[in-house]
Amino acid sequence: MKYISTRGKCSPQTFEEVLLTGLAPDGGLFVPESLPELSCDEIRSYQGLSYPELALKIISPFIGNEIPAGALQVIIEESYSEFDHPDIAPLSRLVGNEWILELYHGPTLAFKDFALQVLGRLLDYVLTKKEQRVVILGATSGDTGSAALEGCRHSDHVDIFILHPYKRVSDVQRKQMTTVPGDNVFNLAIEGNFDDCQRIVKAAFTDQTFLPEHRQLVAVNSINWARILMQIVYYFSAALKLGAPDCQVSFSVPTGNFGDVFAGYLAKRMGLPVDRLVVATNQNDILHRFISANEYSTTNLSKTFSPSMDILVSSNFERYLFDLFDLDAIALSDFMNRFGKETLSVSEQQWQRVKDWFDSASVDDDTTCEIIAEVFKESGKLLDPHTAVGVKAARICKDDQTPIITLATAHPAKFSDAIAAAGLALPELPKHLTDLFEREERYTVMPNEITEITNFIKNNCRP
Ligand SMILES: *Cc1c(COP(=O)(O)O)cnc(C)c1O
Repeated sequence: MKYISTRGKCSPQTFEEVLLTGLAPDGGLFVPESLPELSCDEIRSYQGLSYPELALKIISPFIGNEIPAGALQVIIEESYSEFDHPDIAPLSRLVGNEWILELYHGPTLAFKDFALQVLGRLLDYVLTKKEQRVVILGATSGDTGSAALEGCRHSDHVDIFILHPYKRVSDVQRKQMTTVPGDNVFNLAIEGNFDDCQRIVKAAFTDQTFLPEHRQLVAVNSINWARILMQIVYYFSAALKLGAPDCQVSFSVPTGNFGDVFAGYLAKRMGLPVDRLVVATNQNDILHRFISANEYSTTNLSKTFSPSMDILVSSNFERYLFDLFDLDAIALSDFMNRFGKETLSVSEQQWQRVKDWFDSASVDDDTTCEIIAEVFKESGKLLDPHTAVGVKAARICKDDQTPIITLATAHPAKFSDAIAAAGLALPELPKHLTDLFEREERYTVMPNEITEITNFIKNNCRP
């Protein structure tokens, strides 16, 4: 399998090359040249597989023979052995045909563990083979940081620098990042918002001359293709449990960078019978305005109860737009270059294609708290605020026939503010995190200033 850039000015790359980088050199994002298409019979044959077995089936065609099947199997099995639920991604019913897919049973209690546990091990495998060292640089609005640190910290081949917006992540999220031990682990709190962090990371990737010789930056945010790839798996897992391919299901996906929902879109294109994909946003509603009104423009950032979705520009949306523009890299580049200067829209026909597959809703903080309380009363299930946004959007968009599965992206114990605001008692952190608040934190507060950050990286990478 080869990968091409959405901006069209870069030769096709291997999986390994794509894994070890971030944006394509032309500023685009890598997407697979083609997608495997699975027949109904093929999908039916996956019923009853364990989660790691299913994962191996789904991802193998994207990796080809670059990593031997045996090694890949070990990587996957080890990755999911760190989860504290035997089903890995259990599906549970709320009421009627509303379901939640619990993606918070990994080491850091959010869905990002599904990809980052594997990504860390894939990197280690490839870097060991190549006898190479790299620098991981990432920005996080909360959950990516801890998941990346947990997934990658054991690798002798990486130094890892994670930027988060100072005072804009929850206490639990911050503690989970800043208490990770290791002399190859650095947390930088940037005096700015998440988009500022993303901008710094993007600039560092564009000009990597500050790095020591023979080093390169690797991205662990969802522009890294391997992240998206691993997230395709749980759409199959959940739909199979409800009887796919012999019935349709819909998904509601709490969305920030459009990575998770893009994985669902790919699952549908690969042949999974997905009816609707609901894009659930908080007040930061650029994607909702695009899907519902064909209006693509930024506004000001709102700080909400669901910080991992406090995003102005969804980086992965470019991957979807590339498809929507029928792989026309020139048209896409033009669209992206005009973004930020004017309100953009796509053609009537393209917008129709968007609406054929996607629904959307934007859910504010008050409604988020209401739904947390409502669902708790109905079913005794405590939702985290991101999941609550998803469940509310599902209720706005669902029909009566099709089961709808909301991706439960984080454990409620990570987001105590929203739970308290909903008038409910806080859940306890799982056992391996009960002493989190006593652990020593390590992080450096830095100005919103690219050269300060690149100097810090240069001075702190191990020789
Ligand atoms: C990262 C994250 C999201 C948003 O996921 P995207 O892939 O960026 O759309 C939603 N909820 C939680 C809890 C997250 O950590």
